[in-house]
Amino acid sequence: MINPVQQALLFTRLRWQFNHWSTQQIQLHQKRRLVKLADFLRQHSPYYAEVMGAAKPLDLQALKPMNKATLMEHFNQINTAGLDRDTLIEFKVEQERQGLAKLFQEKYSIGLSSGTSGNQGLTVLSTQERRDYGPLIMARTNLPKVKGQYRVLFALRVNNPAFMEINNRKLYLTHVNYTHEPEHLVKIINEQKLNILAGPPSLLSHLANHANQLDKPIQGIVSYAEVLSPSTKLFLETSFGAPVIQIYQGAEGFLAGTCSAGSLHLNEDTTQVELFDVADESNIKRVVITDLYRTTLPFIRYELNDLIEIDPEPCSCGSQFKRIKQIHGRSDDLFELDGENGEMKYLFPDYVRRSIIQASAKIREYQAIQTSRSEIEIRLVLKPGVDRIAIQAQITKNLTHWVNRIGGRMPKIRFSKTAPKVHPKSKKMIRIRREFNAG
Ligand SMILES: [Zn+2]
Repeated sequence: MINPVQQALLFTRLRWQFNHWSTQQIQLHQKRRLVKLADFLRQHSPYYAEVMGAAKPLDLQALKPMNKATLMEHFNQINTAGLDRDTLIEFKVEQERQGLAKLFQEKYSIGLSSGTSGNQGLTVLSTQERRDYGPLIMARTNLPKVKGQYRVLFALRVNNPAFMEINNRKLYLTHVNYTHEPEHLVKIINEQKLNILAGPPSLLSHLANHANQLDKPIQGIVSYAEVLSPSTKLFLETSFGAPVIQIYQGAEGFLAGTCSAGSLHLNEDTTQVELFDVADESNIKRVVITDLYRTTLPFIRYELNDLIEIDPEPCSCGSQFKRIKQIHGRSDDLFELDGENGEMKYLFPDYVRRSIIQASAKIREYQAIQTSRSEIEIRLVLKPGVDRIAIQAQITKNLTHWVNRIGGRMPKIRFSKTAPKVHPKSKKMIRIRREFNAG
């Protein structure tokens, strides 16, 4: 079903576009794709037939941005394959319960995310969409060259049929989930002679503490699904002695990959990205994406939960595709503080992170949870024999600096020795998290 020649051609084209297209060419391409996409959706999606109207060219900005809740609410009208939301959820839940990963109607690969805000999100990929996915990943992740096969330890929360089909002459994937202990993973890596490790940074960090038990050198590390802080990146690079490649992808698709110069570039030829200011931070933006190719379940003006910081400087690799300086975590996790005059002020997750990790090199694990407008719990696991009181005082001092900078009132800080916990629903390690809903 998947034709290797077509895939190789697609790979070459994607590489070429990334290296050669000017900003104008990217924009022209996006415009053309949008016309095609709108034509298709007007014909096949009851929802878009109604909201897009017949006006040509399509005025994308006139469409209301969508998020997971609205996408799920209108799922049956939005998708172009006549699929029913509740049937798919039932199908997927049953598959997970049985530990299976089958295609729906032998065609559609279904993904079901357990949303942290309680609502589940569905994704659907057709055969064609899955076929295009592999070459895009290969063209934009810039894995180091290896002799023979890429043999990958591939960690996913739950398995997805979209990935099970990827196993060929160049690439071999071993799927594991987030619940496996590092000792078990070491055994798999050694037995199957794996040379690439791919997973969320929390899992990779656990594994890094066992790096000396690996028989063969690791050639590359691929990080995704959670925020990769610069300090974790360095820790992984030194522990495994291999480059760390970050990819930025979620249910919404594969949004950005790492170039030869190590920067994270947005895939602007497959996804159109709109950026909006947040609070007063000029380079940190909210992100609205439009997937220019996926049509089974289209993502049109879909607002991501993440905040990203764009790097305005051109990249030394020469590509004109926009690059991300840092992913700042989920906008849901912005800490909300009282301002001097009772107005709401936002503290970015990254400032909280920095306040903690810059306080001491003796911090082994941490997590900060805002439990109310006026209280933050900070969980700290320290190396043995260190001065906990002094580290706590330094964290409070660092945080006070940032809270003053944004004109907020300093909340009460409650320190605890509790180890960080993964989110009960998403199973992701979110180190900076807001756990209450203010308004
Ligand atoms: Zn680059």
